[in-house]
Amino acid sequence: MRALLSVSDKSGIVEFARGLEKLGWEIISTGGTYKALSTAGINVIEIDEVTKFPECFEGRVKTLNPYVHGGILHKRGDKAHVEQAKELGVEGIDLVCVNLYPFKETIERTDDFDEIIENIDIGGPTMVRSAAKNFNDVLIVTDVNDYEEVLGALENGRDSLEFRRGLMIKAFEHTAAYDSMIANYMNGRFNNGFGAYQFITGKKVFQTRYGENPHQDGALYEFGSFFSENFRQIKGEASFNNLTDVNGALKIAASFGDEPAVCIVKHGNPCGFAIKSTLTESYVEALKCDPVSAFGGVVAVNGIVTKEMAEKMNEIFLEVIIAADFEEDAVAVFEKKKRIKLFSQGNAKLLMSHDSHDFKHIDGGFVYQNSDCICDNEVHNAQKKSKRSASEQEMKDLEIAWKVAGLTKSNCVVYVKDSAMVAVGMGMTSRVDAAQCALKKAKEMGLDVSGAAMASEAFFPFRDSIDAAAEAGVKAIIEPGGSIRDDEVIEAANEHGISLYFTTVRHFLH
Ligand code: 5GP
Repeated sequence: MRALLSVSDKSGIVEFARGLEKLGWEIISTGGTYKALSTAGINVIEIDEVTKFPECFEGRVKTLNPYVHGGILHKRGDKAHVEQAKELGVEGIDLVCVNLYPFKETIERTDDFDEIIENIDIGGPTMVRSAAKNFNDVLIVTDVNDYEEVLGALENGRDSLEFRRGLMIKAFEHTAAYDSMIANYMNGRFNNGFGAYQFITGKKVFQTRYGENPHQDGALYEFGSFFSENFRQIKGEASFNNLTDVNGALKIAASFGDEPAVCIVKHGNPCGFAIKSTLTESYVEALKCDPVSAFGGVVAVNGIVTKEMAEKMNEIFLEVIIAADFEEDAVAVFEKKKRIKLFSQGNAKLLMSHDSHDFKHIDGGFVYQNSDCICDNEVHNAQKKSKRSASEQEMKDLEIAWKVAGLTKSNCVVYVKDSAMVAVGMGMTSRVDAAQCALKKAKEMGLDVSGAAMASEAFFPFRDSIDAAAEAGVKAIIEPGGSIRDDEVIEAANEHGISLYFTTVRHFLH
């Protein structure tokens, strides 16, 4: 039996080759891989001995050759194929192990187009596809993490058709993802990110128990390796809905740099948020906003959960805590609670992937856009429209309200006082409903909104929300502006002695 090994990522390849050698396989290899293996003392046949042609054009042509592809592709169970292979002097290649030129690493490292072009692998994907097509007779190995399992299967005769089919699917996924990445890069470079086709590919991280509802299947996919590297399930299993809620909570809690921010989310929307001097204080304040909704909620903590904080959090039923990390004795606090789930990123602060693209499924296709970004300078550069100026604390509150509003389902209105959210109305079909619903709820919770700052993610179309806010004692408002009735809104703010700022940027989130 003969194996062809040609890999860019050489990790584990020596051990894999050694294992194959032990099982009696002959090994063929290309330039760099040949060098690595022969240096390690493994018996290797150089590729040009097989191709009877030198590696040429600076490695652009190494394995693109009928001795290689005939060796992979001829059907071993077909008499005519076997006879033709004999006639042509084509010997079988029964295992192909390839990983491709590091295109992703190259585009992350450089803008040099010549170098990028050279890192488009041609022979590699061709071999992968040949071997995958002939999976009946050939094993195709494209994942470094599969080496051990493949060796085990060969050793114990477990390289069944089903096993080889699994490798075949993985191989086609690998080449599909590779070409999609190239197409996306070229669209980004030459078409402003938008091509005739948008290739969105992801790698499955894990299956969830079910989808949004128990009768639906679900799974988590990642674009690069964000979740593989930054998502640890310390206690419990993340469900489909947990993952979307974690996403909502994390985005908000990670929006304030290193500040000790805590966000509580329910069904994707925030029902509590605060930045106080410690994480524990932030949690306590965040919970006050809406403790009813927080029951069974998802909490994101921009820092490390201590034992003291864990004890506080353990007082009510929370479904999920996602934190930068947990101290060991903090995890122990939750041991007895069966239903709580703890996820960490294994870092000092929460991390975001900061994807440049965003898309949403609509029946029959999807809509695609660049990601929204709520930039720090939107508040700092906001235009003062009222006579009154916001105080320093009000300015801080406006910033918090603005960022939270930008990450909350439209229409939304967010009220913040002393760096803690005190009321929020979201997902409403009219803005005045969002403004008033929030105030009604704050009243029910016994929260005092007077002196608060308020943000709306899109312009106020009428003065009614300003009047309602004034009645509740709101002192500062931030919104994009741009309504044909802006003058009425400004007049209302001045009448009530409210500071009003326009950011000129809208952040719809539907
Ligand atoms: P090596 O380090 O062994 O010289 O090269 C290994 C890499 O070459 C692998 O990533 C493999 O996909 C790629 N490769 C194999 N055959 C060819 C070929 O004919 N042309 C090109 N451009 N790349 C190839």
